[in-house]
Amino acid sequence: MRERLRNAIEDALNALYKKLGCRALFGGPIGPEEVLGRIGTEALGEYGRFDFASMPVMPGVSPNSFSVTSAVITPLGTRQVPDGFGGSMGVTSTVQIMINSTSGSFVSGSDTDRAVTILHELGHAFNMINALGGAPGIVSDARNVSLSEGNTKRIKDACF
Ligand SMILES: [Zn+2]
Repeated sequence: MRERLRNAIEDALNALYKKLGCRALFGGPIGPEEVLGRIGTEALGEYGRFDFASMPVMPGVSPNSFSVTSAVITPLGTRQVPDGFGGSMGVTSTVQIMINSTSGSFVSGSDTDRAVTILHELGHAFNMINALGGAPGIVSDARNVSLSEGNTKRIKDACF
């Protein structure tokens, strides 16, 4: 699994370096290659970390379909910053990207599928970590299969 993760990150980085349209899915002042390199694969990095977990297949969903959850992303915690109006607000600075070790792209997908999963979750990281300024090409898709598949299709078209 760790080997597959390293290869997938490598393939995702190559796509970001080679295709301007791929890079354009991610906005903000900090490049997606730089952010991806600072999400730890063994320990917590500046922007978070990758982990593995067994996630059950939802009833009625085929284990080999694109609807299977390949990874989920959650904030690792928030910290309080001034809101500019004399108060404070919570911002997310690190995330956990949990790779499904039961089914999905890291179990039964291709190298490209895994790189797409990495870029998909990286897009959510851009939208979740306040300092990164958002990813215009990736929409929030929690529990919404068609929005999630739309994100995946945009990444495939732009990056591979
Ligand atoms: Zn998603």
